[in-house]
Amino acid sequence: MAEIQAESRMLIDGKLTDAASGRTFTNINPATEEAIGEVADGGAEDVDRAIGAARQAFDETDWSSNRELRKRGLEQLKAGLENHREELRPQIVAEVGSPVALTYAVQLDSCIGDLQWDIDQIDAYQWEYDLPVHEFMGSTSLRKVIHEPIGVCGAITPWNFPFMLNLSKLGPALAAGNTMVLKPAPDTPWSATAIGRIIAEETDIPPGVVNIVTAGDKAEVGEVLTGDPRVDMISFTGSTMTGRRIMARGAETLKRVFLELGGKSANIYLDDADFASTVPGSAMTCTHAGQGCAITTRILLPESRYDEGVELLKAAFEALPYGDPTDVSNLMGPLINERQRDRVLGYIEKGKAEGAKLLVGGGRPAAFPKGWFVEPTLFVDVDPDSTIAQEEIFGPVIAVIKYTDDNDAVRIANNSSYGLSGGVVSASLDRAMAVARRIRTGTVSVNGGMWFGPDAPFGGYKDSGIGREHGVAGFEEYLETKTVGMPAPIG
Ligand code: NAD
Repeated sequence: MAEIQAESRMLIDGKLTDAASGRTFTNINPATEEAIGEVADGGAEDVDRAIGAARQAFDETDWSSNRELRKRGLEQLKAGLENHREELRPQIVAEVGSPVALTYAVQLDSCIGDLQWDIDQIDAYQWEYDLPVHEFMGSTSLRKVIHEPIGVCGAITPWNFPFMLNLSKLGPALAAGNTMVLKPAPDTPWSATAIGRIIAEETDIPPGVVNIVTAGDKAEVGEVLTGDPRVDMISFTGSTMTGRRIMARGAETLKRVFLELGGKSANIYLDDADFASTVPGSAMTCTHAGQGCAITTRILLPESRYDEGVELLKAAFEALPYGDPTDVSNLMGPLINERQRDRVLGYIEKGKAEGAKLLVGGGRPAAFPKGWFVEPTLFVDVDPDSTIAQEEIFGPVIAVIKYTDDNDAVRIANNSSYGLSGGVVSASLDRAMAVARRIRTGTVSVNGGMWFGPDAPFGGYKDSGIGREHGVAGFEEYLETKTVGMPAPIG
């Protein structure tokens, strides 16, 4: 892999810049616990300047109305990302601890390609249309519906798929004509600063349209963004707890909020499924150490074939290759930081204390004394109301739950405060679809089908969020709607 030459500076008003305070914070490789670089430690003063620049770029340049400029700028950004792809790959692996194999898919390669979908919306989207002539209170009117960008969008992203999530917000927000302030997670600043450098050096995107503020403190910059009246919208991905905080704080200035939050999704194996060819695939939930909001961390097996399913899962979990994330054969690396590692170990202890049976893993692997690793961990005979079946662990810890019939499976799947994703596997597509329709989640995989894509709306029911990312529904999150009435021509 290429040498790492990461960008340490933020992007504010078109310039790559250090923090006003001159402070930096240390980026740490979670697989080695070693420092890999220093990054600008932005604070209130920096984000204030970034918001001012974004506001000015929205109000005083033609970015919001000039579609050709937006198309050119985003095409240049995509080309820049493609040209720098092999420099980005080791940066992402080093700061995220993601298995390099995932960078050939969702962590890097596919999300650069997916940017094209947003660019295409600039021409394809129906920006305005006429309603039928209408009579109201004695006047006959033509009415035109016009979609416009919202204004300044604050984007706050987490560390699990940082590069992809940064682009998932930048793509539609910019294509729609907004300006932005992006605040990445403290654990993964390079996945944002790399984009900032390409925007500054290789695109015609005007100064102030995209601002990137990195910070070692988790909350300070985000709190300013969500409270500032110059910001019109917050687009957030992260924990449900922080999502609640953002919504409450955003209420003071009546911000629009898009929230993509946690999950505790269930994968249901119906009793007619081909277990041998499908159940082992459930071990893939531990890819990237279970740090995915939409992964199916509860596995529901029918009582009639429970032992058979458990045996297959045990073998698959024991065989999962993990360790050094730079090794392409590994499917799982470490947790992002020590706090998350300890949090996950805490859940494992809780699972044992509440009576679940630990079948595989359950601790720190002896083979990796350095790095925040936790073994792929399989709990069986899990009570669906217990803590490890209810709370998002965000680690490689899977709960196997027994059910009696299809109704019971649906009831258990829906027995969650979350509603992000899920899966159903059956020999009968009709039967699987009937169950999928009853699951209260934003996405469902049927018989292993993949719902993910730049054109596919993704988001949660219940505590898993508000709004949708991707697809037309995701694009429209970043738009306002204006209706204009005018006298209809006579005759
Ligand atoms: P978090 O929700 O606190 O952090 C996500 C982002 O929000 C980061 O950029 C963070 O700096 C920012 N943030 C934190 N407090 C803020 C505030 N008050 N105002 C504005 N922004 C704020 O998540 P975390 O603490 O890094 O991880 C904790 C748990 O969150 C994990 O264990 C996991 O359950 C969950 N999580 C979920 C996702 C997801 O994709 N749904 C991603 C990461 C973490």
